[in-house]
Amino acid sequence: MTKGSINVSVENIFPLIKKFLYSDHEIFLRELISNATDATLKLKHLTSIGESKIEYGAPKIEVKIDKDGKKLHIIDQGIGMTAEEVEKYINEVAFSGAEEFLNKYEDSAKDAGIIGHFGLGFYSAFMVADKVEIITKSHTDTPAAHWTCDGSPEFTLEEVDKTERGTEIILHISEGEEEFLEDSRIRELLTKYNKFMPIPIKFGTKEINDPEHEPQTITDEDGKETTEPHRQITVDDIINNPNPAWTKQPSDLEDDDYKNFYRELYPMQFEEPLFNIHLNVDYPFNLTGILYFPKMTSDLNIQKDRIQLYQNQVFVTDNVEGIVPEFLTMLRGVIDSPDIPLNVSRSYLQADGNVKKISSYITRKVADKLKSLFNTNREDFEKKWDDIKIVIEYGMLSEEKFFEKADAFALYPTVDGKFYTFEELTNAIKAKQTDKDDKMVILYAANKDEQHSYIQAAKEKDYEVLLLDSPIVSHLMQKLETTKENISFARVDADHIDNLIKKDDTAISKLSDEEKTKLDELLKEVVPSEKFMVQLEAMDSSASPFMITQPEFMRRMKEMQQTGGGGMFGMGNMPEMYNLVVNTNHELVNEILNTKTRKKQERLINQSLDLARLSQGLLKGEELTNFIKRSYDMIK
Ligand code: ADP
Repeated sequence: MTKGSINVSVENIFPLIKKFLYSDHEIFLRELISNATDATLKLKHLTSIGESKIEYGAPKIEVKIDKDGKKLHIIDQGIGMTAEEVEKYINEVAFSGAEEFLNKYEDSAKDAGIIGHFGLGFYSAFMVADKVEIITKSHTDTPAAHWTCDGSPEFTLEEVDKTERGTEIILHISEGEEEFLEDSRIRELLTKYNKFMPIPIKFGTKEINDPEHEPQTITDEDGKETTEPHRQITVDDIINNPNPAWTKQPSDLEDDDYKNFYRELYPMQFEEPLFNIHLNVDYPFNLTGILYFPKMTSDLNIQKDRIQLYQNQVFVTDNVEGIVPEFLTMLRGVIDSPDIPLNVSRSYLQADGNVKKISSYITRKVADKLKSLFNTNREDFEKKWDDIKIVIEYGMLSEEKFFEKADAFALYPTVDGKFYTFEELTNAIKAKQTDKDDKMVILYAANKDEQHSYIQAAKEKDYEVLLLDSPIVSHLMQKLETTKENISFARVDADHIDNLIKKDDTAISKLSDEEKTKLDELLKEVVPSEKFMVQLEAMDSSASPFMITQPEFMRRMKEMQQTGGGGMFGMGNMPEMYNLVVNTNHELVNEILNTKTRKKQERLINQSLDLARLSQGLLKGEELTNFIKRSYDMIK
């Protein structure tokens, strides 16, 4: 037997390891299973190139709990180690690896990120065990070795009897870490980290119906049929799917395979995904994965953190911030890449060349997929638009490249359910909706019911009205206005329709200047000035006499501020400001002006104002009650 002392400069690194990665203790299991997987895959490689004479067979990894002995066993049938290799790989490589890790991350370990997810390897076992044993037999014809270490730099190494190749790691679970002796806890960890690892992982056994057995149905004398129970057999409980969909070629997968894999990833998710994007590159970086577009709700936050990051089928994290562009964190699915550095902080990650390339590759793939869906089945794409528009609009706002590509598939629906691309839209409205200054005005509504009368007014002029109702659309309009030439967006209730798209023919006012001044003064006395700016307009005599509008600029700035960024400072706290547009050519206005008694004038103004407010949905509470009462009195 050899006794020795491992050569490390840190006297006792284990308390440090424990301290550092306190919250991440559970990762020891993933690290050990990763080692077991590597050892098995190495053997597979060696047998495939004829370097190992051993029969590869169908190896698996087993995890076993010995509750009474307070031990956890991880057993593989991989390449194994000779005593010399244990000296070298465990005492030197693993130890120095752990030491290096600690030196490197001592200061930055608190920087929340992927740190701690990777790098410690074998020695992470000491986060949960006060003694670790390795019993290992190399695939070469050498005696098996038994290594023991109690967490100090002292170790023992001796020969042992073990006939099957492979490695068994025995963890003597320390006090306070007993959760790792619980069946349910280990199962939870195995499903979290190892659900898609490439070597089958056995954890206990389970009973299943014997596939060889066909239950017989017996008919007794009374003609009553009874079917005997299915015969049960005990089989290994394999917790993982070693061949998940993303590791396969897209050409080998059907639509159903993608859907099934989605269910495998999100067993609690009942809604089907809208479509998927298969990622598959090897150069200049290696990345595979499947992303899914789920049905979106308008709540942007609850959607996040659903993409899982793997490295060689080992789960790393479900926080992919900094790796995929922000707007795509609303998607779901898996990405697997060994080329993402994990033991660095998030800020480092975002500066990494590979990560930048990966991020723009994913963006491009998503844009290409959307484009092809649009081109191959536009009708279906239009149907899904409501569910995907948030992601697309968000992407157009945040990624310049995506913005450019999205021109080909971003849709602008009208209140009548027609869908235009931007180019189609401008072609359709150019002739009618260009104003006297040669600017094309794109009219839109945010709510078909609330802005009904304004939409109607626009339609009477044969204008097209878009329905733009997603929460960030005001930002997008702002962006389109600055990138496209000579266009502006105006909500239908931003002003009177003739003012929204100003043509040369100015209507002639029926009122004299003197009458206008009189009317203006009268209105200003009656209409509350803190809420409404009175604006006299000579409009068509058939247009509404009173109309409430909300100027586009102010409203949009407020909206932008409410959804973050954009907007002008302090705008969010400003009171709502409305214009009261009074049509001086309307008969009723004429009547107001010419009514003899002041009381009746006021009544007419108030009633008209209330009607205008009502059509904007602005009449509420006591004012609404008074209005209704007043209206009944009038028709009595
Ligand atoms: P890493 O896996 O990052 O190299 P580890 O500290 O986890 O670092 O392991 C150190 C080395 O010990 C491995 O590179 C491998 O050679 C050896 N090793 C660890 N576990 C096993 C195992 N189950 N079977 C064979 N060799 C192993």
